[in-house]
Amino acid sequence: MRPIPNGNVLRSDNRYSVAIIGGGILGTAIAYFLSRASAPRMNSVVLIEQEQTIAMHASSRNTGKVHAPFLYNPVEKKLFAKAAFLGFKMLKEYCSLKSLPFKQDGVLEVATHDSGIDRLHKYLEWGYSNGLKKDELQYLEKAAVQKLEPNVRCLAGIYCSKDASTNYGLVTRQILDDARKFGCSVIVGSKVEKILARNSNDGDTSQNVVTLHISNGMNIKTDYVVNTAGGNAIDIAHGMKIATQYSDLHFRGEYWLAPEEYRDLTKLSIYSVPKYPQYPFLDPHWIIRVDGRREIGPNAVPVFSPYAYSLSANIRFLIPKIFESSRTGARRILFDRQFLQLASSELKSSISKTAMINRAKEFLPQIRPSSFIQRGTAGIRSSLIDVRGKFVSDTKIIKNEYSVHVLNYNSPGATGALPIAAMIAQELIVQGILDRSNQGNNCKYTDVKSPNWDTAALSEEISQ
Ligand SMILES: Cc1cc2nc3c(=O)[nH]c(=O)nc-3n(C[C@H](O)[C@H](O)[C@H](O)COP(=O)(O)OP(=O)(O)OC[C@H]3O[C@@H](n4cnc5c(N)ncnc54)[C@H](O)[C@@H]3O)c2cc1C
Repeated sequence: MRPIPNGNVLRSDNRYSVAIIGGGILGTAIAYFLSRASAPRMNSVVLIEQEQTIAMHASSRNTGKVHAPFLYNPVEKKLFAKAAFLGFKMLKEYCSLKSLPFKQDGVLEVATHDSGIDRLHKYLEWGYSNGLKKDELQYLEKAAVQKLEPNVRCLAGIYCSKDASTNYGLVTRQILDDARKFGCSVIVGSKVEKILARNSNDGDTSQNVVTLHISNGMNIKTDYVVNTAGGNAIDIAHGMKIATQYSDLHFRGEYWLAPEEYRDLTKLSIYSVPKYPQYPFLDPHWIIRVDGRREIGPNAVPVFSPYAYSLSANIRFLIPKIFESSRTGARRILFDRQFLQLASSELKSSISKTAMINRAKEFLPQIRPSSFIQRGTAGIRSSLIDVRGKFVSDTKIIKNEYSVHVLNYNSPGATGALPIAAMIAQELIVQGILDRSNQGNNCKYTDVKSPNWDTAALSEEISQ
């Protein structure tokens, strides 16, 4: 065993039962459940993150909402809906145990146009069918909204008391801390560049050995790869000749920080019903963050990479993305007039602060664009496109005998990360993958306070 600078212990033979690519909330939570299951033996599981620290991308750059599952069609977004339902309770319990911020602060979803009212009724139906109770999700006529939130203008709304706020960056770091105490190895600042699988057959037994070539020069050997690389997950899957029927498009969600003068404008976060729900363009919300900051956002500006936070980064990826899109289903979307119209309006709201703030002004008429002077932290969603050029609604979990790939893991991905991770981990535990090449030392983990989660029961509940 040899230590690396952050006190973490790696195996000298670079051999692990499971290698997880990507230290966002999902990969970290899978590392937690797997290492918890293999403790006290350590070094069965390794988590590899390309950045110097974990949760640098979507898992820190989001709205921080623990979404109640009323926005998700129980058929088309079944996995997300179930994960959000179960995730609420798990996050609440975990945050309370670890003294992390978690506020059940509720949300108001409003319709500002006639067709939005039908959509609100649909949300009610979906919410109840996804497990919310009548007293947790209520339809409000215009007058009732006015009474609840006098500064909000709309035709009707629904109030959900079971929505909450947290800080997912802090949650992810805490989960990793626990995973490490359970014996998980962690390699940061190292990108997985190439993955090669080979079947080693020694007569009686046949076993897959996968080699991950990483940017620090190391070659990691493993029985099983978990691809939770967020916006990069599809490229890793394609590198292993998996999910080749899918491509992706990236959308930068930008925020503006509201000034102090708007602190008492509402008690609740306010979302408005999207005009075109089949596209990944939600109208910007009025957000109350867990630390009390008020923000407007996110929009959804098309960009060329999952890391295109700045103009220069975006331009750098222009040519490769155009080249990639020309060969995949993503090119069909460029002939979709509705999509192009929406994309250009999102672009306008990126360039013009007034255009962006005016979208929230539709339901909060008191706000003035000139009062907003500071941008918030933008995050990038990567949406999966199928061969017909259609956006895929749910998350896609694609497996072969030596890997699992989590694609299209967008909102409410942070809310649902713990139950989805429990489900993925449980499958590997049942397959006995943790026991295959595990000769690690024992770790001391008695100081880890851990909720009494039953991964088998969670896995069953989510897969029903
Ligand atoms: C603007 C925005 C708002 C959102 N709001 C919410 C919300 O309010 N509530 C909610 O529940 N969800 C929300 N989401 C969604 C949620 O944030 C994501 O679903 C979730 O964070 C995804 O987690 P992840 O671990 O899959 O990905 P990520 O956090 O992106 O992590 C993937 C990691 O993989 C690493 N990686 C990539 N390639 C490699 C490689 N080759 N080698 C090594 N490492 C690699 C990356 O550096 C990254 O750290 C929002 C997302 C965005 C963008």
